[in-house]
Amino acid sequence: VFFHEKQYLERMLQFQRVAHLQQGLKPWREKEADIGFVPTMGALHEGHLSLIRESAARCGVTVCSIFVNPTQFDNTADLAKYPRTLEHDLNMLRSAGADVVFHPEVADVYPDGMDAVPVYRFGRLEEVMEGAYRPGHFAGVGQVVGRLIDIVRPSHLFMGRKDFQQVAIIADLLRQMGADTELVVCDTVREPHGLAMSSRNRRLDHSTREKAACIFEGLTWMVQNKDAFTLEELKAGFIERCSIPPFRAEYIEVVDGHTLEPLANLSDASYVVACAAVWAGEVRLIDNIVLSEVA
Ligand code: AMP
Repeated sequence: VFFHEKQYLERMLQFQRVAHLQQGLKPWREKEADIGFVPTMGALHEGHLSLIRESAARCGVTVCSIFVNPTQFDNTADLAKYPRTLEHDLNMLRSAGADVVFHPEVADVYPDGMDAVPVYRFGRLEEVMEGAYRPGHFAGVGQVVGRLIDIVRPSHLFMGRKDFQQVAIIADLLRQMGADTELVVCDTVREPHGLAMSSRNRRLDHSTREKAACIFEGLTWMVQNKDAFTLEELKAGFIERCSIPPFRAEYIEVVDGHTLEPLANLSDASYVVACAAVWAGEVRLIDNIVLSEVA
């Protein structure tokens, strides 16, 4: 198949099949263009679009995948309720400058079954925080991102800092795969009142969504008071701020930003990040903030 460059510029290509995607990427690969890749689970918002824009600014072609990966859900109800808004997503991607959209079915990603795709292990990185509360989650994330990297073979991979632990896991995955892919980490995009944008925010009613600002307020409060209190006191203060119904903090952890090891004192690492998961009724939200970073 031969595509004129102009056609590429005018429209966004969409593929469901792996072979078709790879064929579609050929002209760029032959030109040795930088291939930017943004994996998503759809229900796109401004956070996702910031990654697309960053990729479009840096790379010759920007590929976005939309795939709700069953292997990373430890909870079947969460998987069933995950929002799916393909038409809306395609329009947003077009406006943000994506060139190629890959939206496969489960059978396209796992043609020989989900067990046939390698599972990577991440040691301590997958034992703490999200790993402890969502068993098997990062094995599933590693499995799907590994598979998508093998399919797309991007020069650049764009991921959001909102999923702080996931970034550490994916950096380790790229290392394990020996992939020639640069990981570009993009800042968290927030609602005007501070709530980190998330596809799951769609499941919050208006009033809960407004009140969910308590998560970012709690994290900012920790930063503002980091020199006045111990880490235990800071964590207790966060939990107090996120305990007004329907909110319930599942965990707040202060970790070394490189190793994700929980810390007892702020001075125990040069890069310190507070990470939290908070239930808003039935919806689980995560967020994080840098407490200190010494160059
Ligand atoms: P998801 O569709 O939730 O799997 O997210 C796809 C990518 O978008 C991941 O790299 C996320 O970290 C990133 N992302 C999600 N929410 C935000 C946000 N509020 N700001 C920046 N990046 C985000």
